[in-house]
Amino acid sequence: MAASEALRARFLDYFQGEPQLFRAPGRVNLIGEHTDYNDGFVMPAALEYQADAAAARRADRMVRIRSLNNDKFAELDLDADEHTPRGDWTDYAFGVAVMLERAGKHLAGADILVSSSVPVGSGLSSSAALEVVVGYALLSLAGHDVDPVELAKICQQAENDYVGMRCGIMDQFISCNGVEGHALMIDCRTLQGSTVPIDHKARIVVANSMVHHALADGEYNRRRQSCEEGVRLLRTALGEIRALRDVSFEDLEENRDALSDVTYRRCRHIVTENERVLQAADALQNADLETFGRLMNASHASMRDDYEISCEEVDILVDIAQAQKGVYGARMTGGGFGGCVVALVAAGDVEAFMENVRAAYREATGHTSEIFACAPKDGAGPLRD
Ligand code: ADP
Ligand code: MG
Repeated sequence: MAASEALRARFLDYFQGEPQLFRAPGRVNLIGEHTDYNDGFVMPAALEYQADAAAARRADRMVRIRSLNNDKFAELDLDADEHTPRGDWTDYAFGVAVMLERAGKHLAGADILVSSSVPVGSGLSSSAALEVVVGYALLSLAGHDVDPVELAKICQQAENDYVGMRCGIMDQFISCNGVEGHALMIDCRTLQGSTVPIDHKARIVVANSMVHHALADGEYNRRRQSCEEGVRLLRTALGEIRALRDVSFEDLEENRDALSDVTYRRCRHIVTENERVLQAADALQNADLETFGRLMNASHASMRDDYEISCEEVDILVDIAQAQKGVYGARMTGGGFGGCVVALVAAGDVEAFMENVRAAYREATGHTSEIFACAPKDGAGPLRD
């Protein structure tokens, strides 16, 4: 049975009516980590792992959702006087419904069945895939056109203000705007995305460290505070800067004394990472995979030493990946403290790379890494077979 037929059949196990089907992909970020909330540059690609939803309009204003991933069900009355986050998975879905209505999109009630192939909590953005597929479904069922950039912003707002995770725009933007066969270089200030081709000589390979350290969310928000502190302190010398995007490496070095050592290193990661993304986009445009790979390696060192968002297992996995034949570069991808590593690998060496990395990582840590090669996909839309 085709995947869409299977999902339709499961929908009818729980709900009534003829559902419409939607999809929204997870993503891997090739380079540009934690730069999005600094008005900077990122370069993700949408994955073939995605959240699917079967959804049917209801006559009332109840949003009822079931996830096949955790086998849980919940409902929200759009007309309730107050909407209070529940502190669980439903915040990602209901947060989007609440923010859509707040943005003036009047919604209909809906029955929604979600099924996601994005590994949860691994830095491949299962959260944005869930938000975006729910948002896409709710807008479509209520008869609204979907503007992908607007949907991305509303989903980010849901994660910021309803879930309480102060993420940037990257995950939601790429889930809405991914382009098959390409990475997207996104200017997170202007929200312009430009496609970057992935040379057919190379493959993007993702390896999961299989660890996730619980401090991730608190540390994420703390990193964001350090960046804001850096901007505040640097303003004295640099005038009206709005974000670390506006700070050059020379500016930062000249004003190092204004910052504590920790704040300086946090800022240095963002400032140098922005430069790396711009150089990486040029390198890919010129099919200069060696330069691209070197920038990936430098990005990892900066996340590990300056931004301090890596962890022992991920560093081991990156070291193993970088040592393989045919690898151009490797780095942690996603928010940090565990999750996945992304590598760019010569097409002919991918099979050996995956086998050798899996064996060496198991030997070093006891964890069995899930590793896959990706072919970038389009952003969210109707689900077709
Ligand atoms: P990541 O986005 O890297 O996968 P997050 O911690 O940001 O990790 O988001 C993971 C959370 O998103 C899960 O703990 C769960 O609450 C929610 N989630 C994501 N996908 C689903 C799903 N298909 N069903 C239920 N909850 C989901
Ligand atoms: Mg997430």
